[in-house]
Amino acid sequence: MAQFLTPDPKIESAVRAKGEQLFALMDQQPPPALFSKKGAYARLMDWSMKDPAFKTQLFRFVDVLPSLNSSGEIVRHLQEYLGDKAVELNPALKAGLAASSFAPALVAGPVKAQIVDMAGQFVAGETGEDLLKQIKKNIKLGIATTIDLLGEAVVSEEEADVFLKRNLEILDSVSKFYAKEPEPCFSDLGPDGKAFPRLNLSVKISALTPDVHPADPENSIKALKHRLRPILRRAIEVGALINFDMESYKLKDLTLALFKSIFEEPEFAQKPAIGIAMQAYLRDCEQDLRDLVAWARKNNRPLNIRLVKGAYWDAETVNAQAREWPIPVWQKKPESDANYEKLTVYLLENADIITPNFASHNVRSVSHAIVQAERLGVHPKHYEFQALYGMADELKAALLQMGHRVREYSAIGELLPGMAYLVRRLLENTSNEGFLRIKNMGEASKEQLLGNPVNALAAATEPLARKPRPTGAFINAANTDYTLAANREKQRAALKNFEATQLGKKWPVIINGKKVTDRPFLPSVNPARPSQVVGYWAKGTVQDAEDAVAASVAFFPKWRATPVDDRAKMLERAADIMESRRMEINSLLILEAAKPWVEADADTSEAIDFLRFYAVEMRRMAKPVVTQKVPGEHCVQVWTPRGVGVSVAPWNFPLAILTGLTVAPLVAGNCMIIKPARQTSIIGAFLMDILTQAGVPAGALHYLPCSGADAGAHLVAHPKIDFIAFTGSREVGLGIYEEAGKTKPGQLNLKKVVCEMGGKNAMIIDNDADIDEAIPACLYSAFGFAGQKCSALSRLIVLEGVYDKFVERFLSACPTIPVGDPSQPGTIVNPVIDDAAQKSILGYIEAGKKESKLAWQATLSPELLASGGYFVPPTVFTGCKPDHKIVREEIFGPVVAILKAKDLDEAFAMANDNDYALTGGFFSRSPRAIARAREEFLVGNLYINRGNTGAIVERHPFGGFKMSGGGTKAGGREYLENFLFPRLIAENVLRRGFTPPEENE
Ligand SMILES: Cc1cc2nc3c(=O)[nH]c(=O)nc-3n(C[C@H](O)[C@H](O)[C@H](O)COP(=O)(O)OP(=O)(O)OC[C@H]3O[C@@H](n4cnc5c(N)ncnc54)[C@H](O)[C@@H]3O)c2cc1C
Repeated sequence: MAQFLTPDPKIESAVRAKGEQLFALMDQQPPPALFSKKGAYARLMDWSMKDPAFKTQLFRFVDVLPSLNSSGEIVRHLQEYLGDKAVELNPALKAGLAASSFAPALVAGPVKAQIVDMAGQFVAGETGEDLLKQIKKNIKLGIATTIDLLGEAVVSEEEADVFLKRNLEILDSVSKFYAKEPEPCFSDLGPDGKAFPRLNLSVKISALTPDVHPADPENSIKALKHRLRPILRRAIEVGALINFDMESYKLKDLTLALFKSIFEEPEFAQKPAIGIAMQAYLRDCEQDLRDLVAWARKNNRPLNIRLVKGAYWDAETVNAQAREWPIPVWQKKPESDANYEKLTVYLLENADIITPNFASHNVRSVSHAIVQAERLGVHPKHYEFQALYGMADELKAALLQMGHRVREYSAIGELLPGMAYLVRRLLENTSNEGFLRIKNMGEASKEQLLGNPVNALAAATEPLARKPRPTGAFINAANTDYTLAANREKQRAALKNFEATQLGKKWPVIINGKKVTDRPFLPSVNPARPSQVVGYWAKGTVQDAEDAVAASVAFFPKWRATPVDDRAKMLERAADIMESRRMEINSLLILEAAKPWVEADADTSEAIDFLRFYAVEMRRMAKPVVTQKVPGEHCVQVWTPRGVGVSVAPWNFPLAILTGLTVAPLVAGNCMIIKPARQTSIIGAFLMDILTQAGVPAGALHYLPCSGADAGAHLVAHPKIDFIAFTGSREVGLGIYEEAGKTKPGQLNLKKVVCEMGGKNAMIIDNDADIDEAIPACLYSAFGFAGQKCSALSRLIVLEGVYDKFVERFLSACPTIPVGDPSQPGTIVNPVIDDAAQKSILGYIEAGKKESKLAWQATLSPELLASGGYFVPPTVFTGCKPDHKIVREEIFGPVVAILKAKDLDEAFAMANDNDYALTGGFFSRSPRAIARAREEFLVGNLYINRGNTGAIVERHPFGGFKMSGGGTKAGGREYLENFLFPRLIAENVLRRGFTPPEENE
C-alpha cells in the first residue's frame, strides 16, 4: 500500500481548474465575518493570529467566562488574563475598567455580550426554536442540516439522562417541523430524486454515559447501548439518520466497536439510516475505514461515512508525547491532507455501499473529491459536502451553485456546556496551518492553496514535536495502552497463565546467594479473594538478619570498587527484564496487591523508571565536580557510598517503591538488604530474582522477608547498618527514625534514615474551577486504588461560591466509579489490602458518621460481599470541620471529607492546617489564584488543574515534609545523595613552581 496517492498531472490540472472555479464563486460571496477587517471579533482574531501569547490568554478567558457568576468576577478575570489589552480590545471599556472596582457591571455586561456574540458565530442558538430557525434558513438556501446538541463528557447518570431526553425531544420537534415542510430541499435529494433522510442527528458517545472506560469496552458498550437504543428507536419512528461523531483517540476503538455491535442487533440491522465520522489525521484511519467498509458489505448495511481530518490534533499529539506513546496523528499538516485525499478515493470507490460525506472547509480537499468522483463516475448527488455552522459560508454557497449537496453541522445549546466546542472552533480558525486562516488572512496564493499536499511534504514542519533527547538521557517507560484490544488480550492471557502456573510457589529467604528454605512459610493471599494463595514466603529470623549484614559488610569494599558503569548496566538490564516480563509482573501486582490493571501497569513502569533513572543519575554523579578553579590546585568533589543499608517498603507500591528504595543505594555502591512488606512479599521475591538475573552479585543484595517486630527491628538497630531507606506509615517511620538516632557500640557511621511517610492530601476547588475537569480528577485521586496511595486525595476543600453546584455534581458522579475485583479491567476501586486495613477504614467511616454527614456511600454488590474480599465502600462526608478526626488523620482508604471555605485565604489555611505536607491539588482558572497557590499551598507536590496522584519519575520528583517525610524526593535529581557521602579531594599540582595546563573539566 503506497502511503499516499502519487500526484497525477491530469488529476492535478483538473483539481486546479475545479478549485479556481470554486474560488471564483466564493469571491462573489460576502467575505467571512470572522476575518473581515471590521468588528470586535475580527480584531480579536487578528490579534490572536499575530500574538500567540495573547491568543492563549484570550481563549482561556473565553473558556472561563460562562462559569463566572458576578460582574466583579468577570472584571477580575478580564484584568488577570488580558490586562491592558482589554482596553485596546474594546476602547469603550476604558472608563468602565477604571471605575470597575465600584461599578463592575459597567464592564462585565459588554464583555459578556461580546463573548456571547462570538459564540453566536459558531453556535446556532440555545433552544430548539433557534435550531428550527436555522434549519428554515438552510432550507431556503438549499442546505441540509445535521444537528449537534452541545455537551460533552457527562459526569453522572442524571446528566446523561438529561442529555438523552434532549436528543429525543429534538428528534420529536424537528420531525414535526419537517412534517409541516413536506418539500425536501436541494441537498436532501439523491441522484434519482429520492430524498435522503432529512433529519440528521450527530451524537457524541461521551455525552451518553459517564461509564465510558476505554480499557473496559465490554461494560462501556453495555452502558452506551442503554442510552443509544431509545435514540435509535425514535430515529426509526421519525425516519432520522443518526451519525456518530468521532472524539479523542482513546475513544476511537470503542466507538467503532459500539457502532458495529449495535447495528448488528436485529432491531437495528436495517434501520435507522446511520453514519459515522472517520478522522484522516489518524495514521490508522485507512485500516479502520477498510474494516468498516468490509463490515458494511458483510452485513449488507449501507452507511454514510463522514470523512474529516480531525478536531483534536494538538491534544492527541501532546497526550501521546506525555505518555511516551506513539503519536496516533500525522505530524505534518500535508500528511493529513494527503491521507484525506487517499481516503476520499477509497470512499468513492466504495460508493455502492457508502455515501461519502466530505466534511472539510479546504478548497483543495473539496476540489480533489469532486474531480475523483468525476473520474470514478460517481454521481455528484450520491455524495455530499458538510461544513460547520458559521464557517466557510462562501464555500457552501459555491458548492451549491456547482450542483453539489451541502449539509451544515449546526450546534445548539447553552454556552457553558458548549465551551469546549467554541474553543475548538476558535483554535481551528486561528491555527497557523489551517486552510481558513491561510486563505482569509491572505497568507498564501490561491495556486499554493490548491497545490498537491504530497508535494508540500518535504518542506513541512512538525509543530509540536518534542525535541529529540540526547543519547543516554533518561526516558520514561510507556504505560500499556489498554484501550487497544491487543494489549487487553495480552494482559488477560498473562493473568490466566499466572493463575494457572505460578500460584502457591514457595519463596525462600536469600542471603549471600543462598536460599534459606528451612523457615516457616507463610501464605500471601489475594485481597479480592483471600482464599486464593498467591505464594508462600519464608519468614526470616534474627539470625538471617545477622547473616545478611555480615555478608554485606564483607562484600562492601568489592561492590564499592565495582565501576559505576557496571553497576548502572545491571540496573538497566533489570529494567529490560521487567519490561519483557511486564504483563506477568502486572498479573502478580493485580493478584497480590489487588491493583487494578492500570495501577499495576503504572507500578511496573515506575519501577522500570527508577532503574533507568538512577542508572543515568549515578553515571552523572560519578564524574568528579570541580569545586573552584584555581591555578596550582585541583579541587574536586566526589561521592562515596555509605555502606550497608536496608530497604523497608510498603505494600501500596510494592514493586515501584521497593525497587526505588533498593536500587538507588545499590547503584551508588551500597550493599542492600530487601525487607518487603509482609502483604506483598512475593513481589519482593520477584524483584530479587530480576536483580539477580541482571547480574547483581550475591554479596551486594539479600532478600529478607521478615516480621518488623523481630528481624526487621534487629536490622534497624544493627550497628553495622549505615542507613535505612523507608517508606510506610508514620508510626513505623517515626519508630525507625528514633531508633536510628541511638548510636551503638561498634557503630562507625551516623545512621541515616530516608523516611517517607503518609499524607492527608487536600484538593481545593476555586469558584471558577472547570468542574467538568475537576470532578473526574477528584474521583480518581480519591478512589483510584481504593485511596491507598500516600498521594491520594482525602480532603476536598470547596469554595463557598461553587460549593453547592460542585458538591451536587460530585456526589451524583460518585456512583459511576466502578468497585470490583481488580482482575476485571474496568475496576477502579479494588478491595483494600487486608482485614486489618478494612477494619481500620470502616472504623473511620463510623467516626465520620458521628462527627459529620454521610453524603454518599457506595452499595457493594452481593457478589462482592460474598467474595470475602476486603472491600470497603467508597464514602463521602460533607459538613466536615477542620478538627474532625476524619479530616485530621490519615485513613488510607476510599474516604473523602468535604469542607467548605469562604475564600481562598481560608482554603489555603485549611489545607495547610495538618500534620502532613505531601500532595495538594488546586483547580482554578484565575492566574492570580494559581500564583497564590504556588506560594501559599505548602506541600511537597502541588498539582494545579489536574489530579493529586500519578507522579512520574524525573518529571514529578515525589516526597513531602512535615510528618510526610524528610524532603527527600524519590525520582528526583538529588535522591542518590541520600546514599552517598560527599568527599573533597584537593591536590596541589604545583611542582617546583611549574603548574600543568588547565584541563577541560
Ligand atoms: C461537518 C463537520 C463535522 C465534523 N465532525 C468531526 C468529528 O466528528 N470529529 C472530528 O474529530 N472532527 C470533526 N470535524 C473536523 C474538524 O472539526 C475540522 O473542521 C477539520 O479537521 C478541519 O479540516 P479542514 O479540511 O476543514 O481544514 P484544513 O485547514 O485543511 O485542515 C486542518 C486540519 O488539519 C489537521 N492538522 C493540523 N495541523 C496538523 C499537523 N501539523 N499535522 C497533521 N495534521 C494537522 C487537523 O486535523 C486540522 O483540524 C468535522 C468537520 C465538519 C466540517
